[in-house]
Amino acid sequence: MSEPWAGGEYGDRGRCVLAPNPGIMTLDGTNTWVLREPGADRSIVVDPGPLDDGHLDAVAATAGQVDLVLVTHHHLDHTEAARDFAERMGCRVRALDPTQCWRSDPVTDGEVLDVAGLRAQVLTTPGHTADSVSLLIEADRALLTGDMVLGRGTTVIVHPDGDLGGYFDSIAKMRALVTDGRVDTLWPAHGPVLPDAAGVLDHYVVHRRERLAQVESALSALGLSPADLPPDVAEHPTLPRQVVEVVYSDVDESLWGAAEWSVRAQLAYLASR
Ligand SMILES: [Zn+2]
Repeated sequence: MSEPWAGGEYGDRGRCVLAPNPGIMTLDGTNTWVLREPGADRSIVVDPGPLDDGHLDAVAATAGQVDLVLVTHHHLDHTEAARDFAERMGCRVRALDPTQCWRSDPVTDGEVLDVAGLRAQVLTTPGHTADSVSLLIEADRALLTGDMVLGRGTTVIVHPDGDLGGYFDSIAKMRALVTDGRVDTLWPAHGPVLPDAAGVLDHYVVHRRERLAQVESALSALGLSPADLPPDVAEHPTLPRQVVEVVYSDVDESLWGAAEWSVRAQLAYLASR
């Protein structure tokens, strides 16, 4: 753990209200992002988070009038309160996954959300889940990443909803925005804001490539090569766990369940190449 994280104001358009749901997977809790153009009276609320009255009251007080609730992906720590909160604020819920929408159409890749002068562009960024989206707030050179990039550690890719090929592509898409000078800060859905977007995204790729190399060497220690893997290797009853015990021996055993999801995703990726 580094410095404590409590949310706050970022750029001219971002306010983060931290939800009281800390945990192994949620770090300090879910970051609920309120986005509003300076001086405007209407907001977008991203990832209302858990059904917790105190949290939702704090979000409502920060947000004022809400035009739109957006959820970055379907996981419950982001979406649980979405519909109730939208109903309370008299607005819609939008998401990439139609089943997460309420009184609205799904968002599409490249779509620009425009609320009282605030412009936020939706980018499909699959990897953590198939329905993960990020939001580009170009006026603040900020990218709101959902769970694709976290404020600490690295994200979990849960096979088969998450997929490592998509993940690499999405991280590259984010990195291109940094290279083009359109983004320099990442606003994650858990943990602190990341002012060095380039450094973090590059680290994410290096870290995944290292883990992949470790999975390959664990396979060879077990007498297997990626070429031997069947297409459904991720569903194998014992192999993913065997790989976890080799590759994640340096990681606390409480995280091995999550690590096994990641290893299944890695094996699926290796089998598909
Ligand atoms: Zn998630």
